[in-house]
Amino acid sequence: MSAETSKETLGFQTEVQQLLHLMVHSLYSNKEIFLRELISNASDAADKLRFEALKDDKLFEEQPDLNIRVEFNKEQKTISVIDNGIGMSRDEIIENLGTIAKSGTKQFFEKLTGDQTKDSSLIGQFGVGFYSSFIVAEKVEVVSRRAGASRADGVRWISTGQNDYTIEKVDRPPRGTKVILHLRDDVDEFLDGFRLRSIIKKYSDHISIPVLMPKEGDEKGDETVNSAKALWTRNKKDITEDEYNEFYKHVGHDFEDPLARVHSRVEGKLEYTSLLYIPSRAQFDLWDRDNRHGVKLYVRKVFIMDDAEQLLPPFLRFVRGIVDTNDLPLNISREILQQNKTIDSIRAGITKKILDLLSNMADKEPEKYKKFWDEFGKAIKEGIVEEAPDKKEDLARLFRFSSTHEHTDDQSVSLSDYISRMKEGQKEIYFLTAENLTTARNSPHLEIFSEKGIEVLLLTDPIDEWVTTHLHEFDGKSLRSIMKGELDIDGLESGEADTENKENDDKSQNDLAKKIQDALGEKVKEVRITRRLTTSPACLVSEMHDMGRHLQQILQASGQELPDMKPILEINPTHPLVMMLEEKMEDKQIEDWSHMLFDQALLSEGGKLDDPAGFVKRLNAIFMEMGEKQD
Ligand code: ADP
Repeated sequence: MSAETSKETLGFQTEVQQLLHLMVHSLYSNKEIFLRELISNASDAADKLRFEALKDDKLFEEQPDLNIRVEFNKEQKTISVIDNGIGMSRDEIIENLGTIAKSGTKQFFEKLTGDQTKDSSLIGQFGVGFYSSFIVAEKVEVVSRRAGASRADGVRWISTGQNDYTIEKVDRPPRGTKVILHLRDDVDEFLDGFRLRSIIKKYSDHISIPVLMPKEGDEKGDETVNSAKALWTRNKKDITEDEYNEFYKHVGHDFEDPLARVHSRVEGKLEYTSLLYIPSRAQFDLWDRDNRHGVKLYVRKVFIMDDAEQLLPPFLRFVRGIVDTNDLPLNISREILQQNKTIDSIRAGITKKILDLLSNMADKEPEKYKKFWDEFGKAIKEGIVEEAPDKKEDLARLFRFSSTHEHTDDQSVSLSDYISRMKEGQKEIYFLTAENLTTARNSPHLEIFSEKGIEVLLLTDPIDEWVTTHLHEFDGKSLRSIMKGELDIDGLESGEADTENKENDDKSQNDLAKKIQDALGEKVKEVRITRRLTTSPACLVSEMHDMGRHLQQILQASGQELPDMKPILEINPTHPLVMMLEEKMEDKQIEDWSHMLFDQALLSEGGKLDDPAGFVKRLNAIFMEMGEKQD
């Protein structure tokens, strides 16, 4: 087949078109980053080649010196970024440059609003990459040949960034990838050696292989523009803030500066260097199970793998950076990593580094920590399920919750804050779980606590249910759901003792409870008199050791079968409605009212009625009766 006849035009995946459009519009004020992105890709391509060549050094084709070249041509208005890395086959080019294979892409595009300013800020989270070429280029040409492929198997990809691209065979291109940008007329400024050098210095100095440019003036040959030394191997004090930030953008595929970092070298029996970053913002695919781009593993400065998930526990999957060690063989595979003592020690070491970094931030930079918590708090909470029991307390120290003590929507109260405000004699940390803060704040369960001025933590993330099943105590105080079991807060009483008539009351109240229980039959486990309520007539609680009611709701919503756990209905004997029932109701009415009490207790905890129509019918019957009485 000749090169001509093999030429094909293919359409971009819809998402690519959207992304391209958005990118060109959002990044025009930051055009120069196209070069950073292309050099970053070229550097990754070199890393991949070096890694694959560990098993098969023929891939080097007798040219093991890896580098990246940046050239420009003023007459033709082109800038080229050329690497001799892994290259791409025809199928790989179609897959990599014509589609977005990232997990979570669908969710990302669902988040787009169509409002360009809002959407622009999302693009950074998605990562800009190769498509940023189109910010400056009206046409992009990519010529590539995969390392080890036959010389005849080169490919050329051309697109104007509209709806489609062409792809054709090219004979005998060198190994690696050449990206040629045909610049738009208004971006001539980049056709300037000085400008290009300064952009490379600014963003790509940390790239560990040489970035070459032809010498200026009449001199022949190339010169290296960057330091060409792996950043993490340099002395901490010689690395500037900007250099650290640019390196982050490269490894993290992020657009924004990171929130924090920790760079450390461990020496001794085990030797490794780690440079880890906390991003400023949660990645768009953080909640996607297949979230990628985590920490990269290097062995003796040779890149081994992306997203080495063994290096950090899943709850720290938002961390970005590198680990470089001398203590693993170069030919290590993902499978071997899974049960490797060295990796286990490194993992324990860097997990501790990250947690120390966070706890320091929490102590010394509370504003920054708040930002962190808003973005990643839910992930950190997952750690309580994953971490060993002896680590739970350290982790829990990092947690922040909403609370009745604060009137904002923020999660800002730590368990230590809570303990410092506990009432004299209070032994437990009280919490309530609910679907959202409004339901939580209005929960009848809080009534007695607010009357007594006792703080209650309000837990509204779904993960909180797992937090409370895995974290039983903190600092010697147990955590206690106020929606379960019987309350024992009498010792904390601030008001007067009960009235003398208590015993008499008890008898008739218990009779009423019995009647209501009979009326509700199978719906409840028990009906009992409560003291948790002050303004509501009734609420539902579960047995101390049963599954919490909110967790039941979550599991039910996710379609899980639950064992039959009946709630306990607690009624407030001081509520006028309950008093009325006690004094003058006939049995038929008691039956309707009992169901009403039950249903409203269920509604107020955010629950779903089994028989909403029945509820409405009873409610209407009661309205009618009231109407008749007034006539
Ligand atoms: P990202 O780098 O974030 O994955 P890009 O859109 O920049 O996203 O690139 C998509 C893919 O195209 C890369 O993951 C890589 O597989 C491939 N690619 C891009 N540039 C090169 C290159 N210079 N050499 C080899 N492969 C490349």
